[in-house]
Amino acid sequence: MNVVMSKRKISAKRLQAAKIKGIKVYQSATNCPHCDGIERYVSTRSCVVCTKAKNQERKQREIENLPCVLEWHLVHTLKTDNEMSLINRYL
Ligand SMILES: [Zn+2]
Repeated sequence: MNVVMSKRKISAKRLQAAKIKGIKVYQSATNCPHCDGIERYVSTRSCVVCTKAKNQERKQREIENLPCVLEWHLVHTLKTDNEMSLINRYL
């Protein structure tokens, strides 16, 4: 319990120091439970690695949901379906 408290104090001190210096990222005393990283954003106090990963995921989802990509998937599936039915006809 005491260890956790002191770690929190260290993190708070580093956060404060980064704020004063105007640095966007500070090093937390506690590791991220998700990725084990120690770098955190001063503004949100959230893990840098996890935030970047989340943003990447969101971007990927946005790309997948673009109309042109959806259309491509649709055409692609239709094409394979047609090919499958052709193969089935010959069998
Ligand atoms: Zn993380």
